[in-house]
Amino acid sequence: MGKVNGTSSKRRARRLRFVEQDGLCWWCAKPMIWVDVVPMPTKETKPDPATCTLEHLYPKGHPRRGAMNGGFERRWVAACFKCNQSRGADEGWVSPFTAEYV
Ligand SMILES: [Zn+2]
Repeated sequence: MGKVNGTSSKRRARRLRFVEQDGLCWWCAKPMIWVDVVPMPTKETKPDPATCTLEHLYPKGHPRRGAMNGGFERRWVAACFKCNQSRGADEGWVSPFTAEYV
């Protein structure tokens, strides 16, 4: 298993977000399941939809994604696998938790 460094720092950020959000998904506010290692989705298997994943608050290409205001941690949220997968480039999505950011 390579790439331990990147994985562990991201896992720490994910754990922090998970605890801060009381184990609730940033987008749908449903309880998430914590696993230390989120399995890569394949054709055969997918993580439980409620699995806690780490997600960029701003989607790819969003001008604020790389902005430093708020710092590193602010740019990440804990989101359930289902929301992480389903949001994609949908920038119109407004979470009840994100009103202050949008
Ligand atoms: Zn969710």
